[in-house]
Amino acid sequence: MTILQQEPIAALATAPGIGAIAVIRVSGDNAIALTSRIFRGKDLNQQASHTVHFGTIRDQQNAIIDEVLVTIFRSPSSFTKEDVVEISCHGSEYVIRQILRLLLKEGVRMAQPGEFTQRAFLNGQFDLVQAEAVADLIAADSEATHRAALTQLRGGFSKQLKALRQQLIEFAALIELELDFGEEDVEFAQRDDLRKLVYAIQRVLRPLIDSFSVGNAIKNGVATVIAGKPNAGKSTLLNALLNEEKAIVSDIPGTTRDVIEDELFLDGIRFRLIDTAGLREATDTIEAIGVERTRQQLDKAAIIVYLFDAAETTLAEIAEIEAELKNRTVPYLLVANKMDKLADTEIDQWRASFGSELVPIQANTGKNLDQMTQRLVGFVKTNAIPGSTVVTNLRHYEHLTQTDAALIRVLDGLDAGTTQDWIAIELRDALHHLGELTGEITTDDLLATIFSKFCIGK
Ligand code: GDP
Repeated sequence: MTILQQEPIAALATAPGIGAIAVIRVSGDNAIALTSRIFRGKDLNQQASHTVHFGTIRDQQNAIIDEVLVTIFRSPSSFTKEDVVEISCHGSEYVIRQILRLLLKEGVRMAQPGEFTQRAFLNGQFDLVQAEAVADLIAADSEATHRAALTQLRGGFSKQLKALRQQLIEFAALIELELDFGEEDVEFAQRDDLRKLVYAIQRVLRPLIDSFSVGNAIKNGVATVIAGKPNAGKSTLLNALLNEEKAIVSDIPGTTRDVIEDELFLDGIRFRLIDTAGLREATDTIEAIGVERTRQQLDKAAIIVYLFDAAETTLAEIAEIEAELKNRTVPYLLVANKMDKLADTEIDQWRASFGSELVPIQANTGKNLDQMTQRLVGFVKTNAIPGSTVVTNLRHYEHLTQTDAALIRVLDGLDAGTTQDWIAIELRDALHHLGELTGEITTDDLLATIFSKFCIGK
């Protein structure tokens, strides 16, 4: 593939604001020669790729702007595959602005958001799924998001899908060829082989499609609602989990009126904890707002933790609550709080009645809290096998499901013995979605939408 060296662009690659150092990245045609005009030190034009050079940046009056280190990368051995220069300067906003201004005077233009990554993609550095993973990797703020992005960046599912798509193209071509023969009853494409290939593609697609709900949770946090009557100990539990006085703990029932949201990282997974006002009929208006919100929160929950005061609640009441929770499709955990108020025999009775769905804890001392958190992690992990690729991106999910739908129609067509033209249409549809997924088919609109989500300098 020939590398396209486009007009030179520049941007601050490190986070804006004051820092010890900042890195300005320049990429494109003549990037090295243009930088050398504002740099005093060795002649950058004579230096090998992947070398670092100390020198100064000077303005047109030859005044020193900063002492810098310049790293040069020669095409095609760079991130964008173009000539790239990285100027490490001091992290002052003034210095950064001056250096960028000097570069602009030399004919460099400011980069658009995501333009470096877009160029890397256009020059074949990686496919679209990997390019999007660059954005996810930069934004990763937990071990799980980092792991998911990294797997995708290293090729993830797109390599496998690309190979299968290639085979599907061959079948589609044969079927299109059959169409050219019109009236003559010829079959170039072996229907059984086509069927086998469709199954093979579905075996790759299906786990990816299924992984999206977990992927989404990993990326955006697992919405965990802590529900329960007033005074069950929800705020105390929340504080114990977060180790800080986020919620106001009080002895007056119903004082936690607002929904408090906080984040908890367990085993590298982000849980968004949502504490709610009690699930009971409210008597006064302020509380009524709280209770209405509880229902809204429950509808958004990925996991529900139902907390109750074990000394004040009967087995029958919890059986009723459990029946209600079972109606919702999300996993739930019954947490029997204030176990210090119970005798061991009573705790055993709770356990015997509800099995592993119930965990007895003591929120005010943190006793047994680890058992509870292990269950929460377990809910997420049973769906996500470590090291496997997890789909976290809605665009990918949509193309995967649409490919699958088209392939189902291909199989239906084969079963029903439908005409070639019909199968050809469905195959084209499947190929289209697979192609858009990995970026083998792109439109400018699609690229613009994807790369504009990056920040400038990436
Ligand atoms: P909320 O209304 O559900 O948020 O309940 P709070 O967290 O405000 O707790 C109500 C009361 O129960 C407070 O006085 C807590 O100190 C007390 N409490 C919480 N957890 C425990 C526990 O495990 N054992 C005992 N004995 N008291 C607790």
